[in-house]
Amino acid sequence: MKKQTVDKSMHTIDLTKIDGDGAFPCPKCGTMISPDDESEETYHIVETKVKGDELAELILTCNKCKTSIKLTGFMSQPET
Ligand SMILES: [Zn+2]
Repeated sequence: MKKQTVDKSMHTIDLTKIDGDGAFPCPKCGTMISPDDESEETYHIVETKVKGDELAELILTCNKCKTSIKLTGFMSQPET
């Protein structure tokens, strides 16, 4: 029995470990990805996971190299 192809190239970015506005370089090609960039020119959002009223996880794909990136750490960011 063959397993379905699992994307093992998925990278996880913890936003709590990123300084500044949350922008980060793509782990594979280095393109700067900003979650605040809603133009979707550099990435597109594949999936959002929400817990309660808060964003818990965001899965996006880099438009340049097609790497899947999972963003975590939204929950622990203090509200200002
Ligand atoms: Zn990339």
